[in-house]
Amino acid sequence: MTHAIRVHQPGGPGQMRWEECAVGDPGPGEVRIRQTAVGLNFIDVYHRTGLYPQPLPFTPGVEGAGIVDLVGPDVAGLEAGDRVAYAGPIGGYAESRLIAADRLVVPPAEITDQQAAAMMLQGMTVDMLLNRVRTTKAGETILVHAAAGGVGLILCQWAAALGATVIGTVSTEEKAELARANGCRHPILYTNEDFVERVRELTDGKGVPVVYDSVGKDTFLRSFDCLSPRGLMVSFGQSSGAIEPFAPGLLAQKGSLFLTRPTLFTYIEERSELQHSARALFDIVRSGRVKIDIGQRFALACAADAHRALEARRTIGSTVLTVG
Ligand code: NDP
Repeated sequence: MTHAIRVHQPGGPGQMRWEECAVGDPGPGEVRIRQTAVGLNFIDVYHRTGLYPQPLPFTPGVEGAGIVDLVGPDVAGLEAGDRVAYAGPIGGYAESRLIAADRLVVPPAEITDQQAAAMMLQGMTVDMLLNRVRTTKAGETILVHAAAGGVGLILCQWAAALGATVIGTVSTEEKAELARANGCRHPILYTNEDFVERVRELTDGKGVPVVYDSVGKDTFLRSFDCLSPRGLMVSFGQSSGAIEPFAPGLLAQKGSLFLTRPTLFTYIEERSELQHSARALFDIVRSGRVKIDIGQRFALACAADAHRALEARRTIGSTVLTVG
């Protein structure tokens, strides 16, 4: 038996219940892990509210770290006692869980379990955004929304390490300071300032070649106005709500723009891609050029409080749910 958070009906944070449930033994290709730390991500909110529907009941959570405690048949290269970490599939808010062995990676010794749980999903997302969806060039200026968030702080640091100048939007002075300390050259308080005007001002009217927009509803259309002609809009999340449908002709009107809507899981579906992306992340963290800022910790059983903080924009950087 284990303890896990389970959702029986989609809805508010109160729908997450801490329950005792069976884990079972690993099937072919699977292992059982005893988790030591679990990552909190905005996708957990989309799962909980039903925006991304799940079969009920379900255990949210797509990121964690821990120790293998039982290995199923047909698993090569892992044994009980190995340290592992993962991003996806769902089922992470649990003390123990089953997981396909080919979704696991082994973090380097210098990276703690809490850091691994805080960074696997957000960090590989940043690798996808800066190195795979599009190659970031030294000397260019880019726009990052929610720059002091979990993805945001990693994105600012990694982009700066690649030689880009980062303009980042944030909602408070405290977040602006944090973003600045993490590679964001020009924080914009988008709750006070018109971010389109400010981006135009900072780029001598030219606009930026790429916008990374995870805020969605509140920023999506205005982000187009920050782009230079033939620029790329990377819409990769919707923290403020779902994006309304729009006519593709708008992309022509705004200057022959490109739009992509990537999700990490399609970029790490192949085991070789997962390994490549995890290695890129581990390397940049080990080099010290990207630091993983765990802004807050909550006990796993209190995941509802973590969701309330995330949805109220009260979190900074990454959040870890501690186990045990
Ligand atoms: P964050 O830590 O970035 O938290 C969300 C932030 O969004 C808030 O702190 C807030 O920053 C900003 N925000 C703006 N408007 C709202 C609103 N109405 N409600 C809540 N937050 C708002 O979360 P994560 O780092 O976990 O994720 C960031 C985004 O990236 C999410 O949209 C997530 O879905 C997406 N994502 C996408 C992936 C993919 O594969 N496509 C993978 C991983 C993440 P501020 O107060 O400064 O405005």
